[in-house]
Amino acid sequence: MTNRFNPPSVWATINLSDTGDPIAQVLAGEEIDLDHFVAMAGPMSNARAKNIARDPFAAAEFFHTTIRIVLEEMFGIHINARGGIDRKEGILGVVNGYVGTVEAQARGTLHLHILLWLRGAPTPRMMREALHSARFREKMAAFIRANIRAHIDGTTRENFLSTPKQFNIAYSRPEDPRLPDYPRRAAEAERRIARAVQTHDCKTHTCLKLKKGRVVCKRRAPWPTADDAWVHENGDWGPKRVYPRLNAWNPPLIQVVRCNHDMKLVTNGADTKVRTLCFLGPVQC
Ligand SMILES: [Zn+2]
Repeated sequence: MTNRFNPPSVWATINLSDTGDPIAQVLAGEEIDLDHFVAMAGPMSNARAKNIARDPFAAAEFFHTTIRIVLEEMFGIHINARGGIDRKEGILGVVNGYVGTVEAQARGTLHLHILLWLRGAPTPRMMREALHSARFREKMAAFIRANIRAHIDGTTRENFLSTPKQFNIAYSRPEDPRLPDYPRRAAEAERRIARAVQTHDCKTHTCLKLKKGRVVCKRRAPWPTADDAWVHENGDWGPKRVYPRLNAWNPPLIQVVRCNHDMKLVTNGADTKVRTLCFLGPVQC
């Protein structure tokens, strides 16, 4: 792909909530009406965690099914019966190809790292030249505003942690676009879910590592803050972010998966280079 077309354009990580999502509970044998879902009808979070611990096959089936549907319905890639690829326009445009890898956390929960090649993306040389153009950088900033968000309206660096946070957010169903008032409900859901799952607290066993005698976060938190999406000539970029520990998300994806995830543009910038190396190398990310 890189030789024939262009380098990958987008890096994403999806940490599906196997203990939280009602679909995983149904696959583990619980009787839940997903069409008329009521979170308080249970099972409660303790019982849900036990169900998943008891049935790792259901957890893997949930992961595999959800990721397949995300690839098909959101990224527009479908493997047809002949083993070929059918493509349709998805949330990021048309995806030429992807490579993904599945990893397990210590407790066994699966997560996906994926690199996506977008149709029409520039080659590295074109990208290097185009980044000198203010018009191109503004176009990239518009792409970032639409697809990679790291700000919740109404929050500031100071008040972020005191804004209400909902627990067990994944034990829910996505907002139904067929019902009235969808844009408002979806925007509210995005704020609620992002507040619940997208903050990053560094922990010794997950992200902190020793680098040149200093303890640093391998995910590079805290991240730069900015009042608007930005792109520099060297390829460094970032979304609007006022709270430095709020990780970026993709707006349509967060509606559907309702779990922690991450999306980054792959440019010539330092941050995405590290991500790509981490993906291709033997390092667990
Ligand atoms: Zn960290």
